Amino acid sequence: MNERLFRQAMGKFATGVTVVATEVGGKVHGMTANAFMSVSLNPTLVVVSIAEKAQMLEYMKKSKQFSVNILSAEQKELSMIFAGQLKENREVSFDQLGGVPVLPGAIAQVVCEVSAAHVEGDHTLFIGKVKEIQVNEHRGEPLIYYSGQYRSLAE
Ligand code: FAD
Ligand code: NAD
Repeated sequence: MNERLFRQAMGKFATGVTVVATEVGGKVHGMTANAFMSVSLNPTLVVVSIAEKAQMLEYMKKSKQFSVNILSAEQKELSMIFAGQLKENREVSFDQLGGVPVLPGAIAQVVCEVSAAHVEGDHTLFIGKVKEIQVNEHRGEPLIYYSGQYRSLAE
């Protein structure tokens, strides 16, 4: 399969953007991810897909818990920071929800315990059992990702 064609096709699936965050040894690690999906209502489960080459993989295996922070349109810079797209290191402060770091300003914060991890190809699918949720309606519109570009919602 042609890899470029695969990326081009997958990029046509417009998504929101999340930052997945976890803490190991008192250090918070965040990573931008759009491979996020709601899985089950009863029990409440979500999934995130983490590349084998991502530093995040080992942190997730160690901490066994993580947050998914759904970014607002105003948080494009944070998406770039946590995707390694900005050259300089930036200090980012996190809040805590249920003992897990969450990103202030996100339109929703979902805290999970890892309930299963499935290695599939060059990614690991982490199934998260949802423990805490905070929805911040007043944060406005979500950040959108489409064809490798950040976008915003249009009426
Ligand atoms: P690093 O490259 O070490 O960390 C990522 C960046 O975050 C670094 O610049 C680091 O300085 C910064 N950072 C981490 N923690 C902190 C902190 N506490 N304070 C301040 N800065 C910090 N990859 C996937 O595996 N799955 C996906 O679903 C996915 N979706 C993506 C969606 C989009 C829109 C984009 C742009 C990228 C996506 N990626 C995805 C790629 C992934 O975000 C990058 O490859 C990322 O750099 C991998 O991070 P890492 O864990 O290897 O850690
Ligand atoms: P892109 O144009 O290569 O990606 C378009 C789409 O292809 C993405 O939205 C995603 O659905 C898919 N994709 C890209 N790389 C993938 C990978 N390694 N594994 C599985 N699916 C992948 O690139 P972009 O959107 O400009 O992304 C910027 C960077 O972030 C690239 O290095 C890309 O590989 C990475 N990224 C990784 C994932 C992922 O691992 N699931 C998702 C999005 C972006």
